[in-house]
Amino acid sequence: MTTFNRAEARIDLDRITANVAYLKNIAGVDLMAVVKADAYGHGLVPVARAALAGGATSLGVALLEEAITLRGAGITAPILAWLVPPGSDYKSAIDRDIDLAAPSLVALKEISSAVVNRRARVHLEVDTGMTRGGFLSEWDSLEASHLAGIEVVGIFSHFARADEPDQEQNVEQRDRFAAMSKKLEALGLSHVPQHLSNSAATLKDPASRFNMVRTGIAIYGLTPDVKTLGSSHSLGLKAAMSLHAKLHLVKNVPANSPVGYGATAITERYTKLGIVAMGYADGIPRIAQGAGIFVHGKRAPIIGRVSMDQFVVDLGPDSAAISGDWVEIFGDGIAGGYTAEDWGNASGSINYEIVTRIGPRVPRIYRSQTLDRE
Ligand SMILES: *Cc1c(COP(=O)(O)O)cnc(C)c1O
Repeated sequence: MTTFNRAEARIDLDRITANVAYLKNIAGVDLMAVVKADAYGHGLVPVARAALAGGATSLGVALLEEAITLRGAGITAPILAWLVPPGSDYKSAIDRDIDLAAPSLVALKEISSAVVNRRARVHLEVDTGMTRGGFLSEWDSLEASHLAGIEVVGIFSHFARADEPDQEQNVEQRDRFAAMSKKLEALGLSHVPQHLSNSAATLKDPASRFNMVRTGIAIYGLTPDVKTLGSSHSLGLKAAMSLHAKLHLVKNVPANSPVGYGATAITERYTKLGIVAMGYADGIPRIAQGAGIFVHGKRAPIIGRVSMDQFVVDLGPDSAAISGDWVEIFGDGIAGGYTAEDWGNASGSINYEIVTRIGPRVPRIYRSQTLDRE
């Protein structure tokens, strides 16, 4: 067995299971667990299993490759892939019973012509005001003849501002979604499942839950927006990932020492610095300032610029930390350490980007009391 001796992301799968069960209970409808982008950096297949164990009724991914990987791992739950561009191998999706999103007549045509034996399962994507994917003006032209070989198993749209619950745009999008959905009956399609809510709407907007919610960030125990919705903890969510690295080196440094590339920081006093064995190649944002690490029950802030494989923290003159100690870069914050939200704030970004960009050379170490380990 390989021993990893530098850095690791620890993933508590039981927390994902618990978050899914908790969110499903809040929503009171079916729940699609969104596991795109390697499950927001947490690991596609283990997270998918943990989410299904928590009661997720389906899985959502962006890419067809992601859906195929899930099927390859033996997962039989419904899977929707919503970013399958023109020219994709639609036939392999249909053969594997993977649901496809269709945002246009062109997409429907391509899916339809890939049908050989079994019908293609399609969710119609409508643009209700985000002005990204989905049918907009073309919606009026959609006719039953465009659906040859296609079984419409869903209609969906996506919120632009659900993390700002007071925004009028949320109400407008919900109303437009209801209005656009009405067209399906005219096409002879009744009882098509409707889904609109992401995590923020699932938590804050009961009127938008329809038949199913699509929750991503919240299943990982992270708040959709710490400023508008509050911390993960206050929302009842448990952060599943904590990121750890070794102190490659701890050393005493005099006052007025310039630290790192560009000498952007200078020690203000005699202190102990710690060199953390992770850098921007691992997803630590180069511009991060104001976050840091947690070691021996204390925070130590970043000093200087993050480099490719390492960054430096100011441990303080009295720190008990020594070379080789493991430190926490972020976690659930309950003991006083930094969170993924803190790292997002420290780098002009959001927790989504922090966890999703943890690089491939960081091993994911899984913990679960309840799921079978492979
Ligand atoms: C990513 C994504 C979601 C999940 O959003 P969260 O804010 O992470 O809950 C839901 N639906 C679509 C279409 C997405 O792309």
